[in-house]
Amino acid sequence: MSDNKFDRRQLLKGALLGAAGTALLQPQQSQAAELVKLTESDPTAAALGYHINSKTVDVKKFPTYKANQNCANCVQLQPGSGNDRACNLFTGKLVNVNGWCKVWVLKQ
Ligand code: SF4
Repeated sequence: MSDNKFDRRQLLKGALLGAAGTALLQPQQSQAAELVKLTESDPTAAALGYHINSKTVDVKKFPTYKANQNCANCVQLQPGSGNDRACNLFTGKLVNVNGWCKVWVLKQ
């Protein structure tokens, strides 16, 4: 009888932990699924001169741009992996690590 109670407690504990784990994972998974790649035609991106590839920046049009500046070494890029990552300036969007915009600041 006491073994039976123990088994039920263990089962209930496992079920609760499983439910809690699922609840914790779901927001992260849904957030990742909601992020879309930032395009150069996005109004905010266009206003900030965002380029998907920093090598295509016209230095006459954007004189603050210097070679080797890109999202990968910008302080605004959030930690992560892959070529498309979150940037503090573009909520809900992913910037290309090889991109660039006028707000670029060197990550220390
Ligand atoms: S703020 Fe930095 S990381 Fe964000 S788009 Fe501009 S250059 Fe890239």
